[in-house]
Amino acid sequence: MDLPNLHVSGHPAVLHKLALLRAETTEPKKFRELVREISWLVGYEALADARVQPIRVATPLEETDGVKLADRIGLVPILRAGLGMVDAMLELMPTAQVWHLGLFRDERTLRPVEYYNKLPDSATVELCLILDPMLATGGSATAAIEVLKKWGAARIKLLNLIAAPEGVEAVVAAHPDVPIYTAALDRQLNDKGYIMPGLGDAGDRQFGTGHSD
Ligand code: URA
Repeated sequence: MDLPNLHVSGHPAVLHKLALLRAETTEPKKFRELVREISWLVGYEALADARVQPIRVATPLEETDGVKLADRIGLVPILRAGLGMVDAMLELMPTAQVWHLGLFRDERTLRPVEYYNKLPDSATVELCLILDPMLATGGSATAAIEVLKKWGAARIKLLNLIAAPEGVEAVVAAHPDVPIYTAALDRQLNDKGYIMPGLGDAGDRQFGTGHSD
């Protein structure tokens, strides 16, 4: 897939952690740690073009030039699996605001329905980062982008850990202006909407709510 707005990390540290994340033997505690660590690395790559402002800084020896992040950033974790990506992003950008967005898929219409929205009344940031570990059909991602665009977001990026080609195609078709950053691009969706080979249900694996039998 050769899309200018799709950024798939090929970093060895990401690939190493990704294999551990996928393994079915990885327990929720370790899984959450890996989600955090990979989010940090993908987030770092996604912020490579963040805007900076020059500042002066005094070292113990003399004054020198430095910079500070100039973009005001809003993090939009998609409930619930996106929650695990928030801490890493706040470590990277401690002044970011966090706005939770809850979407579920209506089984009748197969369309995402918004059930929780903590966006402020007006767009108060320059850059919004949507956090969702799995880009599967692209339904939630395109819905979240629509919500943010209607609300007035100027720049939006989508951060995932694993993306399916179907999801990438859906997002690129609907929102070609939104860059996608992901640790991996997998083969396909299966008939239940799971990413293959994927990692299973990212929410269940983080929060220990999967079947134990
Ligand atoms: N959501 C998940 O958590 N996993 C998938 O494979 C697809 C969607």
